[in-house]
Amino acid sequence: MSDCLQCGTCCKVINIGNSFKEIEETVEKEFPNGLKGEDRFKSDFTFIYSFWRKLSKGEVLKLKPSLVGKWKEDREYFTCTLQKDNKCSVHDRRPAVCRDHPWYGLPHTLDYGFFSDECGYKLALEKELFDKQKEGILNPNFNAKIPSNLISSK
Ligand code: SF4
Ligand code: SF4
Repeated sequence: MSDCLQCGTCCKVINIGNSFKEIEETVEKEFPNGLKGEDRFKSDFTFIYSFWRKLSKGEVLKLKPSLVGKWKEDREYFTCTLQKDNKCSVHDRRPAVCRDHPWYGLPHTLDYGFFSDECGYKLALEKELFDKQKEGILNPNFNAKIPSNLISSK
């Protein structure tokens, strides 16, 4: 069962660790005559270049107040123009960068920058780690920091 709550947050304010300039340069090199039709769905970069828009700092902080006080100047954030009413309008065709969110094949850990505080995956992992901690079983695959508010005092 998916832990996604379908809140749509991850499509409104997106950080992938690449700058728009990097994406733009790569796409323009591969497609010097521009992207047309299906070209836009060829890769994460062609998709992002076609359908995501870079957000200003003001827009990011308005859409995601949890970033106030945690702003990092070297990060760029995007929003997806294909989200309609908090839902993905191309769900069956969404690229790997969307399908693999939020773990991207990496170990499941809370010490990780690609999901939001509101994300159901984060909340589910916090609960799982809390339950394991209570039972005295901590799965060694979880290389995670348990938030202090979830750690029992005894
Ligand atoms: S393509 Fe769909 S899943 Fe991917 S960012 Fe856009 S709305 Fe979200
Ligand atoms: S932020 Fe998390 S819970 Fe919300 S839509 Fe994205 S993956 Fe699902």
